[in-house]
Amino acid sequence: MAIVIIGAGQAGLQVAEALRSDGYDGAITMIGDEPRPPYQRPPLSKAYLLGEFTEAQLTLRAPEVLARKNITLLSGVSVTAVDRAAKQVRLSDGRAIDYAGLCLATGSRPRPLPVPGADLANVLPLRTLADTRAIAAILPKTERVLVIGGGFIGLEFAAVARKLGKEVVVLEGAERLMPRAVTPMMSEFFRKLHVDHGVAVELNAAVSRLTGAEGKVAAVCTADGREFPADLVLVGIGILPNVELAQATGLECERGIVVDACSRTADAAIVAAGDCTARRLPDGSLLRLESVQNAIEQGKSAAAALLGKERPFVASPWFWSDQYDVKLQMVGLANGHDRTVMRGAPASHKFSAFHYRGDVLLAVDSVNRPEDHMPARKLLDQGLSPSFAQVADLGIPLIAR
Ligand code: FAD
Ligand code: NAP
Repeated sequence: MAIVIIGAGQAGLQVAEALRSDGYDGAITMIGDEPRPPYQRPPLSKAYLLGEFTEAQLTLRAPEVLARKNITLLSGVSVTAVDRAAKQVRLSDGRAIDYAGLCLATGSRPRPLPVPGADLANVLPLRTLADTRAIAAILPKTERVLVIGGGFIGLEFAAVARKLGKEVVVLEGAERLMPRAVTPMMSEFFRKLHVDHGVAVELNAAVSRLTGAEGKVAAVCTADGREFPADLVLVGIGILPNVELAQATGLECERGIVVDACSRTADAAIVAAGDCTARRLPDGSLLRLESVQNAIEQGKSAAAALLGKERPFVASPWFWSDQYDVKLQMVGLANGHDRTVMRGAPASHKFSAFHYRGDVLLAVDSVNRPEDHMPARKLLDQGLSPSFAQVADLGIPLIAR
């Protein structure tokens, strides 16, 4: 049986390699519309723009490594349709490929900025290596950087731009930074961190239009009448999952391609993994995670499912972000917490916040404390909750030896 994977990103690569490590020795074809082998995105908004990370280091697997594993990679070509009745995918270059098993790992794309002037030159997203190259080409000629969106992309890029000596303004639509990802206390820690590094952070900022001169952006205007001059505007206002292929072929899509804990869709021959999915939880709700860990774990589940095995993704979600000299590591989901216990003080820039509902630990956010993050992952994966006193006392280890 032949397996086809649509998307040659973090999730698609994981599916291909997990199929091989699970013993599958049939044909695997991975089709990616970007003109290069699978690469990692996290350094694009961090070390890469500072020149501390080369393009070669971004590559996750070189073509010769894939060839050795007998994984066929078709780069620079997109899948334009999935015909479930014929079990066939159609490609932009006119080819058609039959499948016995199919994985949708189509990722996501930046949400477009819905205001006049968003199409001016030097108004850029940051998703792909091509996007990052475009930013890198403009940065040396840029003095004033305006970031729209105080999420992960926006804040990581703001930190990079400040390190490069640019004037930086961040406009966030919500009342606090990274509102979907972190608690109010952590939002405030990062607001202060950026302000202390010389970034102007404007919250509740409703961007109404962008103005330009000679086709290039010149300023960003907000609904309350303010105008922020800018040579480069970075738009980081979230993503849209790439669900169109799945939708067109009649698979259920809601906030993403709907999958179960084993990355299965309702079609027994089709799985999906990574940013493009929304996972149905036991309580019926849908969870879309946009992270490397999610792409890897769903990729492993998807490969197992294609081979008729059940390997549910049950690990606690974890994420990280690097901004200036701060490494934020998060594990679990803090939604619904009613108490936070601190381990260390925010002023020290080395602390963790343990979020509980009652006495049940839900999530842990660590700033420059990897020694808390790894035990926290183990505790959450095992459903264990340390006492408040244990957490608050830096002298007591989180996990007994
Ligand atoms: P992608 O990596 O987007 O891969 C999907 C691929 O499929 C793309 O190449 C796409 O072009 C291709 N494709 C789509 N449709 C088709 C089609 N029809 N035919 C062929 N190919 C198609 N996560 C973290 O956990 N930590 C971080 O620090 C972090 N930093 C990040 C920094 C940046 C700048 C960005 C953009 C993301 C970051 N992320 C981070 C998120 C993480 O990179 C993503 O969650 C992860 O890449 C998702 O993998 P994926 O395979 O689902 O999607
Ligand atoms: P994000 O984390 O969802 O943040 C986008 C932010 O922009 C949100 O705070 C959002 O607020 C705000 N926003 C939305 N519309 C706006 C507007 N018109 N004006 C001003 N602000 C607006 O998404 P992202 O930062 O764009 O990142 C894109 C993807 O890359 C995500 O999948 C992210 O997970 C991934 N990424 C991850 C990391 C990491 O894990 N370290 C790093 C970089 C990128 P609302 O939520 O209220 O809409």
